[in-house]
Amino acid sequence: GGKLRDSLRKLHTRSGRVTTTQLNSVLSDVARALIESDVSVKLVMTLRDNVKQKVERLIEEDDDDNDDDNDNDAKKEQRASNVSKMVQKAVVDELTSLLEPARKPHTMKRGKPNVILFVGLQGAGKTTTIAKYANYYQKRGWKTAMVCADTFRAGAFDQLKQNATKLRVPFYGSYTQADPVAIAEEGVDQFIKEHYEVIIVDTSGRHRQEAGLLEEMQEISAAVDPDNVILVMDATQGQSLYDQALAFSNAVDVGSVVITKLDGHAKGGGALSAVAATESPIVFLGSGEHFDDLEPFNAQSFVSKLLGLGDVRGLMEAMNGAGPDGKTHEELMEKMSKGEFTLRDMYSQFQRVMNMGPLNKVMGMVPGMPEYLVPKGGDDNSNTRLKKFLYMMDSMTDKELDGKVDFSDHDDAPIQSRIRRIAAGSGTHPKEVQMLLQVHKQFEGMVNKMGKSGMMGKQAQAQQ
Ligand code: GDP
Ligand code: MG
Repeated sequence: GGKLRDSLRKLHTRSGRVTTTQLNSVLSDVARALIESDVSVKLVMTLRDNVKQKVERLIEEDDDDNDDDNDNDAKKEQRASNVSKMVQKAVVDELTSLLEPARKPHTMKRGKPNVILFVGLQGAGKTTTIAKYANYYQKRGWKTAMVCADTFRAGAFDQLKQNATKLRVPFYGSYTQADPVAIAEEGVDQFIKEHYEVIIVDTSGRHRQEAGLLEEMQEISAAVDPDNVILVMDATQGQSLYDQALAFSNAVDVGSVVITKLDGHAKGGGALSAVAATESPIVFLGSGEHFDDLEPFNAQSFVSKLLGLGDVRGLMEAMNGAGPDGKTHEELMEKMSKGEFTLRDMYSQFQRVMNMGPLNKVMGMVPGMPEYLVPKGGDDNSNTRLKKFLYMMDSMTDKELDGKVDFSDHDDAPIQSRIRRIAAGSGTHPKEVQMLLQVHKQFEGMVNKMGKSGMMGKQAQAQQ
């Protein structure tokens, strides 16, 4: 992600002019970064052409409005920054629109049976996602049930049954290697008769090489006549997602996509391939093995994360709901949109974050947040770290909190003495204070860049 930001910085030239060569070079960098994030090569090439056309048009318009001979340095600087902004915005817009296909997600209808068929390769995460999905709808008051039409894999029914029992969701299935088409049909019929609203059908995955997978899926689909077919895909499969998605989508009428295992090392670019191949929207992301690890999809947040910009929008939405003092929040947004971010701002952010929980979800959204502060699973260390950070900031003076002290020179004796004072006051080690200052620097740089790119401004408006 960071590579993209670095390449965009190349566009800041003294003259305020961007040559075609420069633009091409930056677009190549962007393309490489996207391919490394598992976006399919074909998509990247299309994206690149679209962005290029758009930006060239915008630059032309910009040139028409300006008379070069009279430009002063400030004006040139302004134009250079505009061009960089344009490229970034064009990339973000293109990616976002790729993730928002014309086909809208299926909407559940109350008081009616909504039959939802899950398909995908073995191990993609269907059965796990079905449990999360059932949990999601049941919690929101939908009468939910599950049918296990995976008779291929021994233990498949047990897995679904265990999940269903934990969630207290009725289920239907069989231990014997019965006909999956018949089981699907019987189960769905029974739950329709009992007036269930969300009827979820699990299918067998098998491996790609095994024959019969697509045929069986087609037969089940014909038998239960689903209101929506959800294709589940494993993000760690990276570049191969495009072909996979295409194969499924050619066999059944895929209407939505769920991408799983985004909590691991997957970079997520494969999600774009899945959407492009199926022309269907992503509805949820899987971010863990627990029932709650299911996140409704938001294209803008996803793109921000993909580009390493942090999920600012998601964060702001979460903050918006959580902050006790709405006014301060708006003030903070206003400051951030100008690229300002003091230690005091970080203090108030961390405080909000502490009140929001579950911490791992929130911390993952904070731009520039170092990995070690984002806990995985049940890890509570980062909570402790965050508290320590708050104690340290409690031991700071107003001048320090408000950015009136330059901490960047660590070797400076007065700065070292300040750091020792803060450490002593908060019962921490000077090294930990330095870490806090480093985290703040990272944040500040990120907010600064986002402020300049206009992204924060856009989000600030969206909040009003
Ligand atoms: P199926 O064969 O498609 O039904 O896949 P399963 O639901 O049985 O999942 C296969 C494996 O992936 C299991 O070990 C799951 O716990 C794991 N899994 C599923 N979704 C996620 C996810 O979002 N994150 C992580 N880390 N693991 C997942
Ligand atoms: Mg399964």
